[in-house]
Amino acid sequence: MKRIPTGSSIATLFSLITMLLLSFAAHGEELVDATADYDTNNVFAQILRGDLPADIVFESEYALAFHDIKPRARVHVLVIPKGQYTNILQFNQNASSDEKLGLLDAISQTAGIMGVEESGFRLVSNTGHDGGQTVPHLHVHLMGGEHLR
Ligand code: AMP
Repeated sequence: MKRIPTGSSIATLFSLITMLLLSFAAHGEELVDATADYDTNNVFAQILRGDLPADIVFESEYALAFHDIKPRARVHVLVIPKGQYTNILQFNQNASSDEKLGLLDAISQTAGIMGVEESGFRLVSNTGHDGGQTVPHLHVHLMGGEHLR
């Protein structure tokens, strides 16, 4: 005997398909291994070399800040060290004190340039697979310009 799906089983099926599609979308980009050696061909290395364009907000001897290509907030800038570090752990282990201070300074200067010093902002540095890191060059997301959830 054929069973006719009820409204709730159709809804369950629909949400399962949606979850499946969302999970494919989330894993569409390759995730970075937290222990990976530095890849000199990554997209931010290409920006640093001037091989790829970027919408630059701030630059110093030690760091570069540019707008994220897919902003997830009204203000969404990436701040990166100029040195070759895959993530914050490798940066902490191998960078000089000047490079570390240079990154902190670049973050503060960028917040000032973007006008979020008083309204506040969020800093995020996704690290490795579980952190959802997709670009293997240390970067700090500076997000604000609106109330973030
Ligand atoms: P994550 O997922 O934390 O590694 O963040 C990588 C970020 O880099 C994402 O928010 C991307 O939108 C951003 N991104 C990737 N390629 C570029 C690019 N060419 N210029 C600016 N931002 C980029």
